[in-house]
Amino acid sequence: MSTAPSASLPASGTTAPNSDTTKLEHSNQKLQDLGSNKSDTQQVNWESELQLVSSLAKLQELERKVHELRQFLPEGLLEPLVPEKPAPDSPAQLRNDLEQATRARLAGIESFQSLWRGTEMKPVWNHVESRIKESNGDLIQPTGMWEKDYDVLLKELIKTGKTEEEKVEKEEEQIERSKAQASDGEWQVVVERFTQRDMPGMRVVKGQDPFSLSAILAKAGMIFSIKGIQEPGIPGVCEWQVSSQSPPGRSPSKLQHAIQDCLNLRTRKWDLEFLLDMVSSYADIKQTTCVTCNRLTDNSAQLPTIRRIQSTQLSQSDTRRFAFDALHPSCA
Ligand SMILES: [Zn+2]
Repeated sequence: MSTAPSASLPASGTTAPNSDTTKLEHSNQKLQDLGSNKSDTQQVNWESELQLVSSLAKLQELERKVHELRQFLPEGLLEPLVPEKPAPDSPAQLRNDLEQATRARLAGIESFQSLWRGTEMKPVWNHVESRIKESNGDLIQPTGMWEKDYDVLLKELIKTGKTEEEKVEKEEEQIERSKAQASDGEWQVVVERFTQRDMPGMRVVKGQDPFSLSAILAKAGMIFSIKGIQEPGIPGVCEWQVSSQSPPGRSPSKLQHAIQDCLNLRTRKWDLEFLLDMVSSYADIKQTTCVTCNRLTDNSAQLPTIRRIQSTQLSQSDTRRFAFDALHPSCA
């Protein structure tokens, strides 16, 4: 390897990724999480800073590997012969050592090739080639040094993106919250809308006290009291609290207490619709399997009492529903 890598190397043939590609795969996974990485050239957005930085990070990693490869000859192959090392016991041992050194170095070359020709690099090479064509080969001359560490830059960019997303989410929630707290009667609208949906296995009854209701899970044999807590000077409810109810002379089961705890640990504590959807996810508790282990009971015979929000569909406010995944406490 005496020449610098050329973009005209055929970008074909893929090999299964190995441990050497982990770093790149990791950053690529993050990109996929953000939904901005496409292996198809047509779909790659080259205007995206994230795309450019991640591509540069890949190129930088390849270059780092090129420098590693340069050590293969003669140092790498002849490593067993360096005088500092203890002399091998026999010629057969030396032969064995040399063979192993060669295999290890060849594996390194193969790993580099599969990375270079892999599907992840293909759109990058295509882009480089199209830019060379566009400019008739008249390109900015590199200084021969990477002025930035693109792997670090990529991590920062992903982090900033996440923070930005969280900020938008928080703002949206604030708007929703204000809407829900627009008037003292808003919660009754939510209850009526929920009743109209006629959720199987669950009934909601308004209570005697203001801001109070009961959720009855007939199949599960449980009743939960729900009470709205107000903040002075603010209409509506700032938090809905859940407690277990049981027929006279009986105390709520351990299972019901576990559910109550999970309900009270939820997010969006001001959101009655969220809470009712969450309560309804327990209607079939004795038949609901855990999303992690796919079993009804875990090793300590516990049902999946934990609920994790699956998705929020906030588009049509009238039909908005929250879906939940069921999990065992030991699987969460
Ligand atoms: Zn489980």
